[in-house]
Amino acid sequence: MSSLTSYCDKIEEKTVMIFCNDCHSIAEVMGNENLIIHNLLGGLVLESNAHDINYLRHCIDEEGASQIVIVGHLNCQVLKHLLDDVSGITLWEEARSYVEALSQEMVSLNLGLYDRGWHLMHRHVALQVKKLSGIPYISEKVEADKLIVTGIVIDDREPNLLEETNLEIFETLNFKLN
Ligand SMILES: [Zn+2]
Repeated sequence: MSSLTSYCDKIEEKTVMIFCNDCHSIAEVMGNENLIIHNLLGGLVLESNAHDINYLRHCIDEEGASQIVIVGHLNCQVLKHLLDDVSGITLWEEARSYVEALSQEMVSLNLGLYDRGWHLMHRHVALQVKKLSGIPYISEKVEADKLIVTGIVIDDREPNLLEETNLEIFETLNFKLN
């Protein structure tokens, strides 16, 4: 395990760090010149996020970003809210069904509930990395070795805890991505 600040200090390339809006650790890395900080609610890459994808494109083309890191954080209130949400707001339908499927998968695996949420967040981050990497413009850059898309999970209540998400670890699980 390392910490968010030490992880970011080691970054040498221009990197877009995608934080969830309710993550408490953003302020810790604000001053880092190599980082472009971006927020995505729940860290969710959604079809309705077209403007965010345009922004990422701008970061790559205009700002020279060659890495995107999706930062998952434990105890995410956005994901929790989506899970508890019974409002039926259609805007959130895609996100809600995703989070429901994710939590059901974790329950069926007996993971996530006994490790303070690490597995769940790693799985979430791995899926979002996969989704982002599959967007045509992004996948083009990845295939041309001009862009790395990866993920980490932090405990923002204890800023010293950080784990890099092993993007292959959950490959065998059969999760339907949206
Ligand atoms: Zn969150």
